[in-house]
Amino acid sequence: MTRSGSTADIEVKLNTSAWGRRLSARSGPSRNSIVVNSEKAKHCQICGRELDNPSDPLSTDCGGDCWGCVGVIEAEMGNSESLAKVPKEFALGLRPD
Ligand SMILES: [Zn+2]
Repeated sequence: MTRSGSTADIEVKLNTSAWGRRLSARSGPSRNSIVVNSEKAKHCQICGRELDNPSDPLSTDCGGDCWGCVGVIEAEMGNSESLAKVPKEFALGLRPD
């Protein structure tokens, strides 16, 4: 049986890949920031949707709330920028209600 020998070989490979990851994280800051974003997934304080979700155009982080919520509130308060954007988003079907 040469089990102990093969196990040691696997351990060496794992150690090498872990070290390689550390090195690539240091040398690649953009890659590292993606990891940080996924760990710190934030959610809207109003509706609870995930913020800055690339597949959700209304999930833009507006200081802890999503644009889907903030846009409507701002439009109701008469914010001209929001009044220009929000009706278009309703027209595009981005806002179901
Ligand atoms: Zn929201």
